[in-house]
Amino acid sequence: MSMYDVLIIGAGPAGLTAGLYAARAKMSTLILEKDKGGGQIAITDEVANYPGAVEGETGPTLVEKMIAQVDSFGAERKRETVVSLDVAGKVKKVTCESGTTYEAKSIILATGASPRKLGIPGEKELSGKGVSYCATCDGDFFTDLEIYCFGGGDTALEEAMFLTKFGKKVYLVHRRDEFRAAKSIVAKVEKHPKIEIILDTIPVEFKGEGILESIVLKNKVTGEEKEVHADEEDGTFGAFVFVGYIPQSEIFKDVVELNDSGYIVTNELMHTNVEGVFAAGDIREKVLRQVVTATADGAIAATQAEKYIEEHFED
Ligand code: NAP
Repeated sequence: MSMYDVLIIGAGPAGLTAGLYAARAKMSTLILEKDKGGGQIAITDEVANYPGAVEGETGPTLVEKMIAQVDSFGAERKRETVVSLDVAGKVKKVTCESGTTYEAKSIILATGASPRKLGIPGEKELSGKGVSYCATCDGDFFTDLEIYCFGGGDTALEEAMFLTKFGKKVYLVHRRDEFRAAKSIVAKVEKHPKIEIILDTIPVEFKGEGILESIVLKNKVTGEEKEVHADEEDGTFGAFVFVGYIPQSEIFKDVVELNDSGYIVTNELMHTNVEGVFAAGDIREKVLRQVVTATADGAIAATQAEKYIEEHFED
C-alpha cells in the first residue's frame, strides 16, 4: 500500500485548494470525496462574490475550473466515503466504505457544513428560485423586493439586518416568542424601520411555478394558517432560511476536538489538536463561511502539512 504525503477528505473549495497547494508543492496528494465534488458551491446557481468570478459564473463552472486545476498538478481524486480514521500513530490511516484503507503522513479534514433545511413542501424545488440559505451570496438578487427570513439565532438576525440593504421590506419569522440570538442584535432588529418581526410562526409550504410566489405560514399558538403572496407587481420575493448549520463531522467526533456545535476546533494555522491532522473550510469553527475563506483555509492547511512533513519525516 502506498503512503500519501497528504490525504484530504472532502472536495469542496477548501479540499480542492488544499489539493492544489499540496500537489503543486510536489507532495503526493489524495483527495477523497463521497459525492460528485464541489461541495455546497456546486449547487449554487450564481457566484458573484468570489474574486474573479465574472458575470455568468455559476457554482458548477467555478468548481469545474478548480477540479481541472487540481488535476493538472497531479493530485489524485477518488470517490470514496470515509467511515473511520486512525490518527494515533505517525502514519495516519483512513478507512472507507469500500473496505480500502489509505495511509498518509498528514490529513486535511474539509468535509464542510450544510445549512439545515426546513424540510417543507416546495423548499427543494424552489431552492435557488427564491428560496436561499445565503444572504451574502443571494441578497442582491432581491433588490427592491420583499424578503422573508426564517430563524431566531444570530445568523437569522444578522442576515435579516444585512438583507435590509437590498429588500424593500424584510419580515423576520421565528417559531417562538423569544429569540435565541444575542440581545444586542435583537435590539437592533427590533428598532429597524425596514424589519417586521413575526413570532410564534413557522413556514409550512413554499409555492410557485418555477419561482417563489407565495409562502404558507402557520401560527404555532393559534394553529391559524395564512398564505402570503409576493407583491403583484414584483411577481416574486425572497425566502431566506437561517435555521442553523449541520457540520459534516460525525466521523471525526472521536478523532479531533469538536466544539459544542460539532465544528472542528483549530488555530489560525488550521492545526487541530492532533499533530499532523489539519482542518479547512466550513467544517472549522469560524466566523465567515464563504468560498473565499474556505480556499484560504485550504491553502494554509496544505502549506502547514508540508511543514509538518518536513519536520517529522526524514526522507
Ligand atoms: P442556531 O443558533 O442554531 O439558531 C437556529 C435558529 O433556527 C433557532 O432560532 C431555531 O429556533 C431556528 N430553527 C431551527 N430549526 C428550525 C425549524 N425547523 N423551523 C424553524 N426554525 C428553526 O444557528 P445560527 O443562528 O446559524 O448560529 C449558529 C452558531 O453560530 C450559534 O452558536 C451562533 O451564536 C453562532 N453565530 C454567531 C454569530 C456572532 O457571534 N456574530 C453570528 C452568527 C452565528 P429555536 O430558537 O426555537 O431553537
